[in-house]
Amino acid sequence: MRSIPSSAEGVVGGTSAASERKRPSLPLNGGCACGAIRYQIRAMPLLLYACHCTDCQRHSGSAFSLGLPVAAPAFHIERGRAKAWSFVGAAGIPTRFWFCDTCGGRVWGERDGSERVNVRAGTLDDTSWLVPLAHYFMRSAQPWQRLGGDAAEYATLPSETEILPLVQAWRELWQPN
Ligand SMILES: [Zn+2]
Ligand SMILES: [Zn+2]
Repeated sequence: MRSIPSSAEGVVGGTSAASERKRPSLPLNGGCACGAIRYQIRAMPLLLYACHCTDCQRHSGSAFSLGLPVAAPAFHIERGRAKAWSFVGAAGIPTRFWFCDTCGGRVWGERDGSERVNVRAGTLDDTSWLVPLAHYFMRSAQPWQRLGGDAAEYATLPSETEILPLVQAWRELWQPN
C-alpha cells in the first residue's frame, strides 16, 4: 500500500513523465453517450483528478470519478439540452450536475459561486492523454484499486493550499514546447 502524502509534494515527480505525454490540441471536443449534447473546451483544463469518495462512487455507479476542472468561460455547449440536478454537496456547497435530457448521461457539474465547471473527463472524444495527477479520498477507495505512477494521493479532499501546487504542476506538464 502506498503512503498517502500529507502535502502535495508527492506530485513533484508527476512532472517527470511530461516528455512522454502528448499535449492534446485545442479545442477539446466531447459529448454525452447519445450525441445530443456536444461541447467544446477552448483552453487547457486546470487539472485532472480521480475522486474515490463514496458520493462519487454512487454518482458514477463506478469505483471513482474523473474530474476535469475547466475555467467556465472556456466551456461551450455546442448543441443539445442539458437537465440539472441540484443538491448540497459533501462540503455543504450547493452543486448542480448537468445531464443529457435524452440519454441521461452526466456531462459536467458546477458549484455555486465557482468560476470553474467540472467536466466528466470520460465524456471527451479523446481520452488517451488523460492521466490523473492526484487521487482524492483514498480512504474510501475500493481495496482492489491499485495505483501506479507518481500521482499524489490524499486520504480525503486536499485543501485549497494543497490543490494550488497540483494546478501548478498540471500547468507545467502541458506547457507548449
Ligand atoms: Zn445524450
Ligand atoms: Zn468524490
